[in-house]
Amino acid sequence: MILLDGKETAKTIRGELKAEVEALAPKHGRAPGLAVILVGEDPASQVYVRNKERACAEAGIISVPHKLPADTSQQELEKLISDLNTDETVDGILLQLPLPKGLDSQRCLELIDPEKDVDGFHPVNVGKLTLGLPGFRSCTPAGVMNLLERYDIDPSGKKCVIIGRSNIVGKPQALMMLAKNATPVITHSRTKDLKAECRDADILVAALGRPGFVTEDMVKEGAIVIDVGINRTEDGLKGDCDFDAVKDKVHAITPVPGGVGPMTIAQLLVNTVQAFKQHVNA
Ligand code: NAD
Repeated sequence: MILLDGKETAKTIRGELKAEVEALAPKHGRAPGLAVILVGEDPASQVYVRNKERACAEAGIISVPHKLPADTSQQELEKLISDLNTDETVDGILLQLPLPKGLDSQRCLELIDPEKDVDGFHPVNVGKLTLGLPGFRSCTPAGVMNLLERYDIDPSGKKCVIIGRSNIVGKPQALMMLAKNATPVITHSRTKDLKAECRDADILVAALGRPGFVTEDMVKEGAIVIDVGINRTEDGLKGDCDFDAVKDKVHAITPVPGGVGPMTIAQLLVNTVQAFKQHVNA
């Protein structure tokens, strides 16, 4: 069994980006800049933002935090996004979700300049993904594709079953797999005989948010299993797969933690450096 080590791969990517940034920054008089907006005190979001800021620092990217109180109005948040859109030192804008109740996240996401949308959530970038045009890709599924590539796993011709149809993971994952000539199948809570679908997968991507959901009887011998799930349980962070039950049956699998999570953050850095290069015409 091959352990797809996202933690180590992400570290390699951060090192590569650091070298790239060190070469580019002097030529353009500044390093890439990522504005990070965090509204309210959601503990999980605070952890994510801290991890993203730390990763930026390691790659030589300047992250500028904008921490706003939970009672921030829609108008104030929109004003901040508009200001960041026109700020020449800002290459990427990250709006940490979820927003506190009463704030319209879709409206805010659509306000972000697509050229600075390093999370790849703007409809323009989602449309570009659908059309196969260059643009910013959602970080989690793009991180998964990057991880597969680094382990020389070619999705071409493989049946890829994805559990979960969210806009940030399931749907874009299917399109990215399709772009690599896989045959994607998106499954969800209304799918008939989900187990049979999963058992047929050469690549199984679990992104539903149910700890230990994928059991041994749902996995084909020799499959590649990508566990996107991050579930906080009494026993700590758990993935959507029962890792111990499936690990001896699969060809390769991502651990949780240390799999897709770090790759998601690495992809954010990749996207930010890409945004910088486009912005300064590097
Ligand atoms: P979501 O809640 O938006 O979507 C979950 C999807 O799973 C839905 O489409 C739903 O139809 C499907 N689903 C739910 N129960 C199901 C069931 N019993 N059978 C089949 N399908 C079912 O979730 P999301 O934002 O896509 O996140 C999914 C998981 O991935 C969560 O655990 C989340 O924490 C994690 N996540 C991890 C990262 C990362 O960086 N590793 C990034 C994003 C999300």
